[in-house]
Amino acid sequence: MDAVSTHQYEVIIIGAGISGMYQLHCLRELGMNVRVFETADDVGGTWYWNRYPGARFDSESYSYGYSFSEELLQEWEWEEHFSAQPETLRYLNHVADKFDLRKHIEFQTRIESARYDKTKNLWHVSCSQGRTACAPFLITALGPISVPTLPNITGLDSFRGEAYHTGLWPHEPIDFRDKRVAVIGTGATGVQVIQEVAKSAGHLSVFQRSPNYCAPLVNSPIDPQTQQEIKKSYTDIFKRCAETHGAFLHKADSRSTFDVTAEEREAFYEKLYGQPGFGIWMGNFRDVLVDQQANDTMNDFMARKVRERVDDPAVAEMLIPTDHGFGTRRIPMETNYYEVYNQDNVRLIDLNSEAIEEITTKGIVTEANEYEFDMIIYATGFDAVTGAFDKIDIRGEDGQKLKDKWTDGPKTYLGLQSAGFPNMLTLVGPHNAATFCNIPRCIEQNVDWVTDLVSYMRDKKWVKVEATQAAEEEWTAHVLTTAEKMLFSKVDSWFMGMNKNLAHKQKRRFLLYAGGAPAYRDKCNDIAADHYRGFAFQ
Ligand code: NAP
Repeated sequence: MDAVSTHQYEVIIIGAGISGMYQLHCLRELGMNVRVFETADDVGGTWYWNRYPGARFDSESYSYGYSFSEELLQEWEWEEHFSAQPETLRYLNHVADKFDLRKHIEFQTRIESARYDKTKNLWHVSCSQGRTACAPFLITALGPISVPTLPNITGLDSFRGEAYHTGLWPHEPIDFRDKRVAVIGTGATGVQVIQEVAKSAGHLSVFQRSPNYCAPLVNSPIDPQTQQEIKKSYTDIFKRCAETHGAFLHKADSRSTFDVTAEEREAFYEKLYGQPGFGIWMGNFRDVLVDQQANDTMNDFMARKVRERVDDPAVAEMLIPTDHGFGTRRIPMETNYYEVYNQDNVRLIDLNSEAIEEITTKGIVTEANEYEFDMIIYATGFDAVTGAFDKIDIRGEDGQKLKDKWTDGPKTYLGLQSAGFPNMLTLVGPHNAATFCNIPRCIEQNVDWVTDLVSYMRDKKWVKVEATQAAEEEWTAHVLTTAEKMLFSKVDSWFMGMNKNLAHKQKRRFLLYAGGAPAYRDKCNDIAADHYRGFAFQ
């Protein structure tokens, strides 16, 4: 391929993760000339980058895989109810091979800018290595949590030991034996990596700024009989996912927390705590995430669990959140996480009583101590949802920068388009239900919808689609109003666009869609059936 001339395609897709791969497949089925650009040297997106020890699904494996191919469903056998990262990456490689996707993907190619040329109705992209390409349609498949952020701590680069961010984990195995390891961060990633590293590290120090309510994953291998039952039940599995708020297998209980007696409530919570997966979050009483008093009953239950499981009462108290309620931040799923703090080789350092002052050549200096380490693991999160858009210089119809347009928060129609950026479609974009979802289920919905839109335009011989300003304003207002009802809108987290490591992201602005996957799907279908109401075509 010529490295300098501009190649023209019908569609350019940025990203070869779960959404980019499926979008490529669907558009190729329409016979379109599609090119995918991907920074990594292979497919997989989040499962390519997040190779840290302990990385695994929090969704039931069989509810997470693609549903579009019966043959794929029947031939793939998940090993565990909650698959670990290596198996998931193997699965995505299998999909890429089976559907011969790689031949239309350019790897090791980062898109640096994307500009819409209104005179030619073309998106021009420039890639790393000077490569350029253009197409009438630009589809972003960037992933909502794909831009890792390091802490804003002085001296970060001076550390002479090994240092890794979980989201940029090396491909080769990392040995923790006999090493003094530090982990900074106790979100869903930190919890997974801590429970794994604690098994072999010489000594592990966990630096915690905010504890989270963590719930047991209750993972297990899938036995051959269950495997057969799963294969026979895919229709029901996906039907159930389609009916639930977050497209998980778990459906909210229709009762209010206070419809039952205290004893019944305790028994219900106990049952949820012992069940696999997100049932405790998604299948809880319908008001637990919206009513503070209801939420408090869960906070009390979860706090008691931590106290039961952690031997040292002072450490237990450090692990119990006091700044937010259960489920108002993403629930990290765990396997013996709390018991890690009963091990002799593990200590918990509360950054609220001794804040980190700097990182030195030898380790971490806090207000109270100087700690020496052989390795520091940063499980410090991501510039979520809009971060991957901000990294590309995206300019729309009149040269407007998308980053500038979204400074005070994203403005989109259905989380799939932003006015002034014609023919740019944002899979799992901000204010899209796919951001708050058992993600492949919502990705398939997003991709199918976008594919239908492109096909509809082709049939009508239309070449340009753009969300109207009015439709965008209405959707953005609806997204924000829906979020206000939820307790999580009062709490700092990546849901609310908060990243304390980024100066410009310390003001809450809701990034997701909280109205639920079924309502979102119905809305998308209704709009499509009404000749794509809210979109203007040429
Ligand atoms: P996160 O939830 O944003 O957590 C980052 C952690 O790092 C927090 O504990 C944060 O503390 C801490 N931190 C950040 N900067 C710090 C600093 N300067 N000093 C001290 N601590 C600092 O990120 P994540 O854990 O990577 O998870 C992100 C999302 O990825 C999850 O919510 C989930 O959606 C997804 N995920 C999914 C899976 C799965 O499906 N199995 C697994 C892992 C992650 P504060 O809370 O105080 O800011």
